[in-house]
Amino acid sequence: EKRVGVLALQGAFREHRQVLKQLGCDVVEVRKTSDLEGIHGLIIPGGESTAMGKQLQINDLGEKIKELGAKDLPIFGTCAGMILLSKTIIDSDQYRLNLMDTTVERNAFGRQIASFETDLQVPAMGTHPLRAVFIRAPYLREVAPNVGILAEFEGKIVFARQGNLLASAFHPELTPDHRVHQYFLGMIDEHWVK
Ligand code: GLN
Repeated sequence: EKRVGVLALQGAFREHRQVLKQLGCDVVEVRKTSDLEGIHGLIIPGGESTAMGKQLQINDLGEKIKELGAKDLPIFGTCAGMILLSKTIIDSDQYRLNLMDTTVERNAFGRQIASFETDLQVPAMGTHPLRAVFIRAPYLREVAPNVGILAEFEGKIVFARQGNLLASAFHPELTPDHRVHQYFLGMIDEHWVK
């Protein structure tokens, strides 16, 4: 059985836990470094990246996650999680895990349309479009050549993968289509089977 951690400091961790349970995973809520022991993958949920960043600095939790991600633990960051994974955050010196070679812009879709839903084409997940919920979402303004782009919305990168790291600007835990979580579980299989 796959044991998947969900960072549970703040934000939408319950919804991720629910989806992972539906997909048959053993779910661990991660609040301290010892919760990371024995997990096969980790999800960093949406929420508020500065608030989460502050809590990650307590008792070395962030540094431990960073170490595991650099060693190649599969990690999936959604929304605030995408911000925390990025090495560069436009106009911000907030705490980050500094793992992905990406430049992220926060709250990038403007105030008027702070939250919206749309259908995304995600070729890696088949031809059927993916319903995506964006909530005060970031996007990736720039990615290094070693980062694969999985989806764009109006020319903005909103879904990307760099080896063991996956990041989405939208919230896949809020829609009934579980292909994104399944894709992440596939990354975990790839990593732990070899
Ligand atoms: N705007 C939030 C941030 O900057 C992210 C929003 C979200 O996770 N839904 O942290």
